[in-house]
Amino acid sequence: MAQAYVNNNFHVLVVGAGSVGCTIAQRCKSLNIKCTLFERESRLNERTRDWNFGIYHAMPQFNECVGEDISSRIPTVLVDPIRGFSDQDVFPIINGQTGEILMKLPTPNVVRLNRSKFRALIAEGLDIQYGKRLRDIQCPSGTDTVIVHFEDNTTVTGNLLIGADGANSRVREFLLGREKAALQPLAVFGCGAVESLSADISRKIRDINDLYFVAYHPEGPCAFMALHDVPDPDKPETWQWMYSLTWPDKDSPTPAGREEIRKSWLFHAEKLAEPFRSAYLEIAPTATIWCDRLAEWRTEAWDNRNGRVTLAGDAAHPMTYHRGQGLNNGILDAAYLCRSLNAHCQDGKGITDVLEVYEKELQERGKEAVISSGENSLMVHDWERLKQSPIFTMGFKPLAEGR
Ligand SMILES: Cc1cc2nc3c(=O)[nH]c(=O)nc-3n(C[C@H](O)[C@H](O)[C@H](O)COP(=O)(O)OP(=O)(O)OC[C@H]3O[C@@H](n4cnc5c(N)ncnc54)[C@H](O)[C@@H]3O)c2cc1C
Repeated sequence: MAQAYVNNNFHVLVVGAGSVGCTIAQRCKSLNIKCTLFERESRLNERTRDWNFGIYHAMPQFNECVGEDISSRIPTVLVDPIRGFSDQDVFPIINGQTGEILMKLPTPNVVRLNRSKFRALIAEGLDIQYGKRLRDIQCPSGTDTVIVHFEDNTTVTGNLLIGADGANSRVREFLLGREKAALQPLAVFGCGAVESLSADISRKIRDINDLYFVAYHPEGPCAFMALHDVPDPDKPETWQWMYSLTWPDKDSPTPAGREEIRKSWLFHAEKLAEPFRSAYLEIAPTATIWCDRLAEWRTEAWDNRNGRVTLAGDAAHPMTYHRGQGLNNGILDAAYLCRSLNAHCQDGKGITDVLEVYEKELQERGKEAVISSGENSLMVHDWERLKQSPIFTMGFKPLAEGR
């Protein structure tokens, strides 16, 4: 009987050990495809900025990638593992001026994850090299290899480089050039923090909804709060909340420095109805609040250098977060890319052919998701258009299902 074709020498290099890079590497591991991750952080979760996110429609693809052991431990990295899942979960959409509930989106058994804990779980057992900040990429002609250079003057050679290096991807810049790969700013500022509150306000916020909600104000600001961590269920003052505060702004300079950011935060928070107002105003003067102008990059095709360099996750489709689609799309990328890699390594299909299948699907889906997320972010800050926004008309569904 003819021996099955298996390419055990194929070496996948992934730049970026974020959620998408680790999901890809987990699937490569179960498919016996050699895969090494290169991460600029000097250790896992070195950067203190944290947030939480929901996996909605991409759970089947996530399970496909990570396998039974990690899937079974997902409940331990939920924002509140003791609470666990609930088939009654909803996402309330609230009028931020009056407190009136405009709509309750059903989100039964939502998988709301604490990012740093989630990342620690999916990084388990992977070959990750830390302190590796990408500097340059070379694709020598006449070979099937890619050479990656890092800022610490080290170099690695492999067969495929996957840029999973986030919204400001250097790999995307290499593939398309600085100008074509640049993020495009949007007319919205976004601030965020993870903080605890006094017991009284924390309880009142959780009484609105157990897990998360959003409040849109007719004058523009949008306040989104989600439970982040529950060290002691009986002590509301220990609960951590992820806050996001966004508002429309076309051309002011981005608030910078602790004082300026706090001033903008308080200015917009003042407008909110109780108890949101108190929750935002109470944030400690010492709290770290990050602030950026929101930005996107509308996915377009790239030259993958004869099947040697590609993109996945935010690197391929950086989008705004008001409809929670970035990670969900990144997980789809991971699953579909690994199916393509398997078709190459196990079934002997040409790498350029299998990457063409992956990239064609990703580029169409990614571009649509970026555009729709950006439009949604603009619409939710415009009271007249709020109810036509994708979050109202489609909730968290993928575009293909929402149409
Ligand atoms: C407040 C907020 C809420 C969100 N909520 C949701 C949600 O509910 N649902 C959803 O689907 N999405 C949500 N998102 C989006 C989601 O967080 C992202 O889409 C997802 O985390 C992207 O993962 P990634 O692995 O592609 O990128 P990242 O998580 O950014 O990982 C990239 C990694 O690459 C590393 N890196 C970067 N540059 C280099 C370099 N030059 N060399 C080496 N390493 C490098 C970084 O250190 C990082 O570890 C939310 C985002 C925010 C901010």
